[in-house]
Amino acid sequence: MEANRFIPLSVPNFAGNERKYADEAVDAGWVSTGGAFITRMEGQLAAFLHAENVACCQSGTAALHLALVDAGVGADDIVLVPPLTFIAAVNPVRYQHAQPVFIDCDASFCMDPEKLRRFCAEECELQGERLVDKATGKTVKAVVVVHVFGNLADMESILDIAEAYHLTVIEDATEALGSHYTAGRFAGRYAGTLGDYGAYSFNGNKIITTGGGGAVTARDPQRVDHMRYLSTQAKDDPHYYIHHEVGYNYRMTNLQAAVGVAQMEELPAFLLRKKENYERYAALFVDSEDAKLLPYRAGTEPNRWFYALAIDRTRVQATMREIITTLEQRGVGTRAIWGLINEQRPYAGERTYHLTQAPAYAASILNIPCSTSLAAEEVERAAATIRMVLRDFSVSRLQ
Ligand SMILES: *Cc1c(COP(=O)(O)O)cnc(C)c1O
Repeated sequence: MEANRFIPLSVPNFAGNERKYADEAVDAGWVSTGGAFITRMEGQLAAFLHAENVACCQSGTAALHLALVDAGVGADDIVLVPPLTFIAAVNPVRYQHAQPVFIDCDASFCMDPEKLRRFCAEECELQGERLVDKATGKTVKAVVVVHVFGNLADMESILDIAEAYHLTVIEDATEALGSHYTAGRFAGRYAGTLGDYGAYSFNGNKIITTGGGGAVTARDPQRVDHMRYLSTQAKDDPHYYIHHEVGYNYRMTNLQAAVGVAQMEELPAFLLRKKENYERYAALFVDSEDAKLLPYRAGTEPNRWFYALAIDRTRVQATMREIITTLEQRGVGTRAIWGLINEQRPYAGERTYHLTQAPAYAASILNIPCSTSLAAEEVERAAATIRMVLRDFSVSRLQ
């Protein structure tokens, strides 16, 4: 074992039947948007999620876009979105020419239900079944709820609010495949299957990967059929090229799905490894004064996709860049949480609603190595290196 091999933040894990199934797809000549692996992966996902109908597509972004199209979100609508997540959660709102309004997160990184409720109650008024934004007269049509790092949002509260104000709920479960509730009203229910729509991603850094890929589900199985139809250029007839809608080239390929079927077989083992390593890290940081590993929501079994280390900013005043660069030089790959989406150029000047928690997290959260192939020894080495670097930057050194 190479003792000082670089420990990356997150890399794919292909230890199962990926090559075998990909070979089968190539040998069969079914490499594109038709083939048995696609339906097989859809069946695996539906069974795993206890969902009636799941459609595989090209990416998580495509899944979110299909959901917005199917929900009828358009130019006269507002969609409530999070500021602190990957920008792909918000871009599809723009593809539909709708207006995003950024609602703060709570301590879970996910949308703050209290602020969501206050926005609906104070900034809007219900006209029949339409929630109208008083400032613009636009319809507040939908909310995109991201289960950040695999941590479940407070769906009990969010779904109650959505029902009261007639909002369509689109769950961005791209980071949360496998996260589910163990207590409360939704015990046994999985991220992405609680709202009106749920989107998943199989990008290279997600818990399972097909290189690039995604899937979409919906409470109403007929809507999934419609999104599957939209994803194949809305082709009504396979032989005569009849189309009744504008479709997209968003269907997953059989070659991607071959890898996906193998990855789905590995998912239970990946979930276990994520949990074991999370618990190892938690024990290794429990007595650190400079940083602590944040817990996931109580009453849930999260997939623990990413681990969030909260740096104590009263003690460690180095910039994120300094910390990450130093760790990189010492062989540990880490990452800052995302920059706020409302501060990115395409969204600068867009409306925000009482953002306080999101900016605080943006300045203090470090993601640490979490690959499903990460060995116990690597967790120990990563944790020791991170602790040493933070201590070197900490005020305790200056005293
Ligand atoms: C990864 C991710 C996406 C996009 O998924 P792709 O498959 O890369 O298109 C969307 N939202 C969030 C929160 C993500 O982390």
